[in-house]
Amino acid sequence: MIPDVHDGVRDEAFDATQALRATGLRVTSQRIAVLEALAGRPHAAVDELHAAVSEQIPGIALQTVHGIVNDLTDAGIAQRVSLPGAPSALYELGRNDNHHHLQCVVCGKVEDVPCVVGAAPCLHPSHDHGMRVLEASVTFRAICPECERNGNG
Ligand SMILES: [Zn+2]
Ligand SMILES: [Zn+2]
Repeated sequence: MIPDVHDGVRDEAFDATQALRATGLRVTSQRIAVLEALAGRPHAAVDELHAAVSEQIPGIALQTVHGIVNDLTDAGIAQRVSLPGAPSALYELGRNDNHHHLQCVVCGKVEDVPCVVGAAPCLHPSHDHGMRVLEASVTFRAICPECERNGNG
């Protein structure tokens, strides 16, 4: 079977240095390490990113990683994923594609799903109270196949 070279290209082709330069943030090895950790594991908590980055930069402080994640979020390279009931904030690369999330209610695993209709705001409330709707942030509460198999659902 011939492998489809287009599969997964988005993440593998991610160039942290280029992404930093594009926003005018100073390119540092710490920022690159955090960005690459984020590209490799979407929807990561800062704790997880810190653990990953520590393998490359031993002794880097958790607070430093927090600061970098905030800088990246302010610059739009990263975005915070708002999920109900998540024990800590999760982050992913900012894509501005109005995608949504499927979250397993048992194990907490999170998957991306494309925007339901292809463009923000995706959903319109039946009554908008006079507000202009920018986007809908939808979390589909679900049960993943592993949890289903284990009978936890
Ligand atoms: Zn699950
Ligand atoms: Zn996502």
